[in-house]
Amino acid sequence: MKLIRAGKPGEERPGVIHNNGDWLDVSAFGEDYGEAFLGGDGRQRLAAWLEQHAGSCPRIPKDTRLGPPICRPSKIVCVGLNYAEHARESRMAVPEEPVLFFKATSAICGPNDNLIIPRGSRKADWEVELAVVIGKRASYVEEAGAMAHVAGYLLHNDYSERAFQLEQGGQWVKGKSCDTFAPIGPWLATPEDIPDPHKLKLWLKVNGEMMQNSTTADLIFGIPHLVSYISRFMTLLPGDIISTGTPFGVGLGLKPPRYLKPGDVVELGIDGLGTARQVAVAYGR
Ligand code: MG
Repeated sequence: MKLIRAGKPGEERPGVIHNNGDWLDVSAFGEDYGEAFLGGDGRQRLAAWLEQHAGSCPRIPKDTRLGPPICRPSKIVCVGLNYAEHARESRMAVPEEPVLFFKATSAICGPNDNLIIPRGSRKADWEVELAVVIGKRASYVEEAGAMAHVAGYLLHNDYSERAFQLEQGGQWVKGKSCDTFAPIGPWLATPEDIPDPHKLKLWLKVNGEMMQNSTTADLIFGIPHLVSYISRFMTLLPGDIISTGTPFGVGLGLKPPRYLKPGDVVELGIDGLGTARQVAVAYGR
């Protein structure tokens, strides 16, 4: 099942991409895709409801803006340096345990919204990532049972301002949390649609040029380990996002480094999770 949310920012309505490709408005189901829905067997209840009601759901015009496919979660936990080649291009050691950092949830936006290059930014960079959405409260979860805590998967661009992240002291969060730095979607794919999340191609282009082209088969720490590991340090709630890290090919790693400027077009995709497109604009426009 592919879950979408469509409409103006802040006014998105829940929908699904139907088997025939139509976008169905499922507002009449009565729940948005937040913690209660994701943690309360919402997708099974919605699937059962659709069997009766799909025919009467309004069709959403396909030129409607797509918002983030889930409501704002309690947290975005990001994994750093989770691909060996990316650790090398970042001139950092391949980690022995997952590197974790937070990204502000206010950074979340729709998959095709503009990237706003923040005030004072000189080093805005891209990072295509597979993001995992939690579907069941997770605290001290064992690896063997971890996948039962996953509600689905998202395409995520973990935008990063490298000067804020690496040159201004303290934690990475400063360079990861600016508004529009977390475009997610176009849809949330539920696990039955993604039988093996560790075998997905992921790619990213800037102005049509392929910059990242890899596979989640190269993840150092896989999803069961990440869910289990993170749940030792905090409780993961339904809707929470774990972004699993980016592969080789970010702007920071190029010689010379290359960063985004207004007018640049970033396109990205992951097998089964769709594609997204963001145009960089200057703050204040
Ligand atoms: Mg990242």
